[in-house]
Amino acid sequence: MDYIRVEGSLILPAKVDGSPDVFQRPYFTLVKPEWVPDEQCSYCELCSVKFTQVKRRHHCRMCGAVRCAQCCSQKIPLPQLGLEEAERVCHACKTVAELVTKARSSNESTILEAAKGLSTFAKHEKHIKKLLELGGTQTLVVLASVDNINVLGHVTSGLHALVTHPSLHKHLAESGVIKAICKILSHVGDTQEQIAIDGISSLMIFCKYQSLKTKVLIDGGLQPVLSLCWSNKTAISLLSITTLGLIAELPATHTTIYDNRQNAVSRLLQLANAPDEQLQEVALKTLAYLSTGLDEYRHRLVQEDSSTGHCLQTALKSSPINPQILCNAACLTANLATSAQDQNELQELLWTVCQKLPQADANTELLCHLTRALANFSQHKQNTNILINTIPDVVKYCLKSPDSSVQLQGMRLLINLLTHAPARVSSLIVRKGSSSVFPALVRIKVNLILVQSKGIRGLSSQPHQVWKQLGSVINR
Ligand SMILES: [Zn+2]
Ligand SMILES: [Zn+2]
Repeated sequence: MDYIRVEGSLILPAKVDGSPDVFQRPYFTLVKPEWVPDEQCSYCELCSVKFTQVKRRHHCRMCGAVRCAQCCSQKIPLPQLGLEEAERVCHACKTVAELVTKARSSNESTILEAAKGLSTFAKHEKHIKKLLELGGTQTLVVLASVDNINVLGHVTSGLHALVTHPSLHKHLAESGVIKAICKILSHVGDTQEQIAIDGISSLMIFCKYQSLKTKVLIDGGLQPVLSLCWSNKTAISLLSITTLGLIAELPATHTTIYDNRQNAVSRLLQLANAPDEQLQEVALKTLAYLSTGLDEYRHRLVQEDSSTGHCLQTALKSSPINPQILCNAACLTANLATSAQDQNELQELLWTVCQKLPQADANTELLCHLTRALANFSQHKQNTNILINTIPDVVKYCLKSPDSSVQLQGMRLLINLLTHAPARVSSLIVRKGSSSVFPALVRIKVNLILVQSKGIRGLSSQPHQVWKQLGSVINR
C-alpha cells in the first residue's frame, strides 16, 4: 500500500482501474474499497455511539468504513465506483463523493460547481485527505478537458494547491496532472492571468526536481512554457523564463530550445536589456544554462548576440541595482569564452571583463565568474597580449581573495599565460606579485597532486614544460 504523508496525516490516494494516468480518459472507475469487517468496530468512529442489537452497523460504499445509521443515512449514485443506483455513503465521504459524481454531469453549471468545490477542498489541509482518497485528483485531471474558462480556473488553482505538497508529486504526475496543466496553458495562453500564473507555477515546482523535470518534458511542458516567456504580463513572463531556465539545466533540451520557431535565444538576449531588472536577471540566468552544453550552441549564442546588437555586452557594462544581473552576465560570458571559433567576436567582452574585475572586489560571486571568464579566455593564445595587462589586477584581487575558487581560477589564468609567453609572464610575475603567486601556486599544486596524481607525475624539469603540463591538468 502506497500511503502518503501530508501535514501529519497518512493518506492512501484512490486508485483507478487500469493505467493511473486518467488524462483524456473521459471516464475512470475507482477500485472499490475493502469493507472493514463488522467485528473490528464496536462503535461508530464518526459519532462514537456503541453498536448494539438496536444500533446496527452500516458500511459506507465509498470508503468501506463501518458507521451507525445516522452517520451513514444518505444515498447517492456512485458512478465513479461503477454504481449507478443510489448507494449508502457516510457523512465524512458525502461531500467529495458528490462533487466527483457531479463532475460527470452534462450540465455546465453542475460541472462548474464540482470544479469549484474540489478546488476549495484542495486548498485546505484538513480536507486534502478525503479529496485524494475519493478520486479528487483524477477528477480535476479529467476536468482539464472541459471547454469552460471558469472550470479551468478552478481546476488550475486546485491542482496548484496540491502541487505545493512535495509528498504528493509522484501521485500527481502519475495521475496525469502535468499533461492537464500543459493542456490548459496551451488553451488559454496568457489571456487569463491567474490561470497562467497557477499553471506555470505548478510546472516550475515540478521542474525543481530532477525526475519530475524529465516528466514535464515527456508530458509536453516545454512548448507552453516557451510561448508564455514572451507574455507582456511581467509576472507570467518571469515565471515562464525561470521555468525555462530550470528546463535548460538539462543539455538534452537545448536542441529544441535553440531550434524552436519562437527565436527563444534572441528574445532572451533582448530581455537581458529589458527595463525590468528581475526580467534581466532571469533571462541572463536561463542563457547561462543554455551555454553549458555543446560548443555548437555557444557559437549560435555568440552569433545571435551579435545580430541582436550585443545585449550581453550592454548588460555586463551596466550598473544595475540588482547585483545578480552582473553575476549572471559574467557567468554567461565565462561559458562563451571557451568557444575557440568565436574569439574575434568576443574581444569586446574580454575588454569589458578586464575593466569590471577591479569593481567586483566586494562581490565574491561576481569576482569568481569574472576570473573564470578571464581564465577561459586565457586558453586561447590570441588573447595573451590583452590578458598580460591584467596580471597586476589578477594578483591584487584574485590571488589575494579569501575565496579558494577565485584563487584557483586566477592561477589557471596565470598558468595559461605562462604557457603561451613564459619569459614575459614570469618576469612580470616576479616584479608584480611573486609574494602572492608562489604561495598560491604551491597550494594549488598540492591540491592538483592530491586530486590528479596521474597528470602531475613525471613533470618535466624544464620550467615552461611544467607550465604546459600544469595548464593541461588545470584546464580540464
Ligand atoms: Zn455515527
Ligand atoms: Zn465513507
